Amino acid sequence: MKIRKKMKRQINFNAGPAALPEQVLQQAAQAVIEYAGTGLSILELPHRSREFKEIIEECKALVRELCGLDNDYEVIWLQGGGRMQFSMVPMNFLSPGASAGYIDSGKWAADAAKYAAFYGTVSILASSKDIGYNRLPQWPTTIDPSLSYVHFTTNNTIYGTQWQSVSGTSVPLIADMSSDIFSRRHDYSKYSLFYAVAQKNIGAAGNTMVVIRKDMLASIKNTLPPMLDYRAQVKENSILNTSNVFGIYVSLLMLRWTKSQGIDTIERNNISKAAMLYDAINKSRLFKAYVTEPAHRSPMNVCFTAISPEAENDLLSLCAKNGITGIKGHRSVGGFRVSLYNAVTIKEVEQLVEVIKELEERG
Ligand SMILES: *Cc1c(COP(=O)(O)O)cnc(C)c1O
Repeated sequence: MKIRKKMKRQINFNAGPAALPEQVLQQAAQAVIEYAGTGLSILELPHRSREFKEIIEECKALVRELCGLDNDYEVIWLQGGGRMQFSMVPMNFLSPGASAGYIDSGKWAADAAKYAAFYGTVSILASSKDIGYNRLPQWPTTIDPSLSYVHFTTNNTIYGTQWQSVSGTSVPLIADMSSDIFSRRHDYSKYSLFYAVAQKNIGAAGNTMVVIRKDMLASIKNTLPPMLDYRAQVKENSILNTSNVFGIYVSLLMLRWTKSQGIDTIERNNISKAAMLYDAINKSRLFKAYVTEPAHRSPMNVCFTAISPEAENDLLSLCAKNGITGIKGHRSVGGFRVSLYNAVTIKEVEQLVEVIKELEERG
């Protein structure tokens, strides 16, 4: 089966839902017709079937393997996206009267803090908001040990910054890894909980992967409806309600693909892709990088602005002509954002760089 026989696939730099490998799309398309000898479409497969349980178990094993974690960590798949996790984290771990620390390094980080304020006291430990988040804030040198947890965003999708390393804290560390999960070698064991929406590096929109250390589950004191209680979701093994069966299957396909590439190779490619694009921007007269501090730049999302509205329009239209899509910046930054998630190839980035060079040469 060939996807869109006549139409050429676009080079897709969207921020999310984002590019997926063609091989994964082919496999997903096949499963929509018939799944693994069941005589059913994956869209018809019951969430309580043996086949779906096998999908869940393989996902869990692959996540633990890719993260280098053991059975001390539970892996679950939830609905409601990143924002649901902005809510569930404080619902489960922040009690009235207690405080949680938040690092404000971007819009998603700030939204997570805003949601937490419904449940307890939020302490902003560091922020780069006043400079438009064009660099990371200073990681706090001391962290109050009475905080219930510290929450931060590993990669700031809208501004294009990424934390390279963060110092440990005595309080549980919680990470939103939505836009850089599985993009590099990483020490996941320093987190008590981390989560990632699927629509960037692990599949289709509508699923969020949550990984929680067991001692964290044991620390929950709040009484919650089961859907919003991590303990109940873990106990029911991600089938408390009718799961997003298809979405979780697409995540499995992405996890298998990620393993087959290898995290080392993925990391190396991601670094090359970003270096290539940043190099073109740095040499350009027409565009300039949004993130001022090179050490803070994210290989996942490269943000830049044009020196004039004409240059901005020229790049957009030349990209459109060349089958390149998804480069418009987030409405809060403007300009351009090129997302270079794992599925984006070096060759695709080369094509964008060619387009930028062509504009430069026009003079
Ligand atoms: C995309 C993204 C989100 C938003 O997720 P929704 O599923 O749209 O709520 C949250 N955090 C980060 C870091 C993201 O990149």
